[in-house]
Amino acid sequence: MKDAEGSVRRSLVRWGRSFFERGLASGSSGNMSARLDDGFLFTPTNSCLGFLETDRLSRLDRSGCHVDGDAPSKELPLHMAFYEARPSANAIVHLHSTFSTALSCLADTDPEDAIPPITPYVVMRIGRVPIVPYTRPGSPEIVPLIRARAERHSAVLLANHGPVVAGVSVEAAAFAIEELEETAKLVLITRGMRVRVLDPAQIAALEASFKLR
Ligand SMILES: [Zn+2]
Repeated sequence: MKDAEGSVRRSLVRWGRSFFERGLASGSSGNMSARLDDGFLFTPTNSCLGFLETDRLSRLDRSGCHVDGDAPSKELPLHMAFYEARPSANAIVHLHSTFSTALSCLADTDPEDAIPPITPYVVMRIGRVPIVPYTRPGSPEIVPLIRARAERHSAVLLANHGPVVAGVSVEAAAFAIEELEETAKLVLITRGMRVRVLDPAQIAALEASFKLR
């Protein structure tokens, strides 16, 4: 069940501030949104996630038309494509966080599986993460690329840009994108070392125990 609008607004502001204060979002980078019963809330265009205000968040109707508050993030098409393809998504967080973005820039990152299953938590919270080919930020060309992946994946990396993660709530999406960022950090600091990844049986056991599929 979706939360009442006031509580979703406060949650977006609280998480935005937390991302900013911990260096996961800087300047006006990153954006967040949440699905309501009768539309959507978005962080405003060119806003800093650290200084959001509950009553200035962009309010959209069900079809994505702006109806109240400041103008929405220009990355709105990306979020809307994710919501369309993934009915269970009630919130989406997109950051330019350093380690996930670094992975999205590396030429030899596997485009179908960017984050190796090195811990059980990345399997439980994120699953397999594909890379979405590069498009100009805000371009509607992102829409079919997201639609092709969001049904099967709750998280993607935009090539040379950064992570996008969907969740059943703002908090769930926030936890998941933080898990993704921390795992990207582990992947990068262990690069060039011999790394043991979870084997298929260990992953299958997690999927069965936590009903991940
Ligand atoms: Zn972005």
